[in-house]
Parts: sequence; C-alpha cells; structure tokens
Amino acid sequence: MTAPLHQARPAGPGRALPDNTQQGMRRRNLARVMHTVSAEGPLSRAAIASRIGLTRAAVSTLVDELIRTGLLQELGPERPGRVGRPGSALAVSGHGPAGVGAEIGVDHLAVCVVDLRGRVRARAVRHGTNRNRAPEPVLKDLTALIRQVVAEAERQDLWAAGLSVAVPGLVSWDGRTVVRAPNLGWHDTDLGALLPDGLPLTVDNEANFGGLAELWLGEDTPRDFLHVSAEIGIGAAVVVDGCLLRGTRGFAGELGHVPVAPEGPACPCGGRGCLEQYAGEEAVLRAAGLEPGEDRIGLLAARAAAGDERVRRALRDAGTALGVALTGAVHLLDPGRVVLGGALAGLAPWLLPSLEAELASRSAGRACPVSVSRLGPEGPLLGAAHAVVRGVLDDPATVAELA
Ligand SMILES: [Zn+2]
Repeated sequence: MTAPLHQARPAGPGRALPDNTQQGMRRRNLARVMHTVSAEGPLSRAAIASRIGLTRAAVSTLVDELIRTGLLQELGPERPGRVGRPGSALAVSGHGPAGVGAEIGVDHLAVCVVDLRGRVRARAVRHGTNRNRAPEPVLKDLTALIRQVVAEAERQDLWAAGLSVAVPGLVSWDGRTVVRAPNLGWHDTDLGALLPDGLPLTVDNEANFGGLAELWLGEDTPRDFLHVSAEIGIGAAVVVDGCLLRGTRGFAGELGHVPVAPEGPACPCGGRGCLEQYAGEEAVLRAAGLEPGEDRIGLLAARAAAGDERVRRALRDAGTALGVALTGAVHLLDPGRVVLGGALAGLAPWLLPSLEAELASRSAGRACPVSVSRLGPEGPLLGAAHAVVRGVLDDPATVAELA
C-alpha cells in the first residue's frame, strides 16, 4: 500500500493528487485560487492573477467556475478611489461545503461544523463515559449527534463535504480503522462501517488533529514543533517543516510510552516506567490522592489553584517527568517550540515551571521554548473539522463535482 509520507490524511474528496494533464493543471490552479483568496481575501480577479502569476483571463475562468459551484462568492464592487476599472471583490463562500469534525473522548462525544472561512457554525457535545463501552453503541450515539449538527448546518445553507473523527488511540494507515484505543477498550475497529454512509471519512489520532489545529490556527506557530496533549493518555504530534510526521505504521508521536525510568512501574503497553505512568491523568490523580471521576482535569486545576500542596506536588512531579521525556524528543528533533495542548493546557501553570527547569538543566545552551496552546481541549475537534476544510481548499474540483 502506498501511503502519503507525512501530511494530514486528506479528508474525503481529493485523495488522488492532480496529474500533469491539462485537467490536473486546472485542478491545481483552482486550488491556488482558493488558497490565495482564503489566506488574503477579499481580493479582485486582478489581484489574484498577480499573486499567482496567471493571466487575468485565465483567473476569470477559474473564478467563474468556483462561483458557479458555490466555493467563492462575489462581494460587489471594490471601494472606489483605486486606480483602474473597479473589480468585484471575491471571498471564500460562507455557505456551501463545510467540514464536519467529531471527537470520541473517554468522557464525551463532540461534533462541530466549520465553514470554508474557518468559522464554527454548529456544534454539540454529549457527556458520559465511553470507557469500555462497545464501539457500536458509541458510534450510534455519535451518528445521532452528527446528524443533529449537520441538520443545524444545513439550515444555514451549508452542506457536509466530509467527516473527520478524532480518537484517543492508534489508527491504521487506511484512515478508518482504530488499531488500539486502550482507554476505550477498542481494538481493530473499522469506524467506517459504523458511521453515516455517504460522507467521505477520515479517522485519526486526537494528538495528530490537535497538532494540525495548532499548525493551522495557532499564533505564530513555527514550521517545526512538538505538540504534546493529554486526555487520559499522553500523545504528541511531531510537525516537521509544516507536515505531520506519521512514521512507518502511522503511530509516530507516542510520547506517553517513552520511558522516563527504565525500572519504573509496568505499563499496559508492555514497557516499564513509561511517561504515562508518571504524568498521565490517572498517575497524577493517584499521586494527588484524588479519586478518578468526571472532569478530572477541572478537579486538579481547582485544587491546585486553591493551594492544595499534595496536588501541586503531583503536578510538579508530572512536569518533571514530561521534561525528562521531552528532553529526548527535543534532542532528537530540534523543534522550534514545544506546545502544551489539550488537557495539559489547563494544568500548565503548575506543570510548566518544573517541565522547563528539567528541559533547561538537560540542554546545553538555550532550551527549547515551551508554550501553551490557546486552543486547549478544543484542538482535536477543531483540527478534525479543519482537515476537511483544508481538503476542500486543496482540491476544489472534486468537491465541486459533489455539489
Ligand atoms: Zn507504556
């Protein structure tokens, strides 16, 4: 099987790359117009032509096609006072195709719809544990939630161009099979068979979608960074030169199973002394003397903020363990930044000092900077929906055919 090297699995349409035929060229040019307007719009036809180096006539043909299929919209004449004949400003359409993102968490299900302008237009969350529930009822609940949110989006003149699902587990290269999700108790589960028909589907690890969200939506995110996130497990997304590094089997970024103490406690992965045994949610709760229940992160944050010394010590120790594991990763990859995302973002005030101290004490020269994601726990869900949107911008021709 041939697999893309290290980019997001394209969600839904646009899996095959455009070839070098005239048709392939047209598809690539449609994508260039969409990306240019998306990044810099509203723009006139002339401005698009000068930015992508095509003639005004060629751009007009492409733009007309994108307007006809509802991907671009005309905003009316540009404001007067500019030199030359006034052109009509073009913007990415605020209706038409949209991305559906879904998240299967250990304690919740969430769905959102993001339009081509990147705005969240509909969303819903269902709380309740999914731990050790069979996949069928969980996916039945998720399907109901997806239908509800898609119906809400359709009332706003949007239609679902694809569905991306973030899961807390390892996903096969086929982009639909969960190989292992220990905190759900699932293995070798084909989600494609259990989710709504007719929507192009991509399933990926939540840490990967969290990292992609940071790449696409974060502030001044460098092209090389490590995004570390946690729900119950600890995962990382490794972004190299603006692309997600996936590894041979698609399992890259399993930071939670990097050993921090060779003879430490046994881990369900088969190893010993893994980071998760020191900085995973359950390990921290145990060290803090708290019972695992709902909203564990909220509980830890509230206790730490209230000055509970045992909780603060548990978080300090978790930060130290994270610093040890990240030292290895930082030396190996030389990222521009480490970003703490997901649930870790909410605990950053108590994790960061010991994490940074550990990194600094083990690094010669300047230690890799560590920042906190402003997306927080929303990252994976937003990353999933935006993956579909990016798929549309990357290959508008295939989406236009679906419209
Ligand atoms: Zn492990």
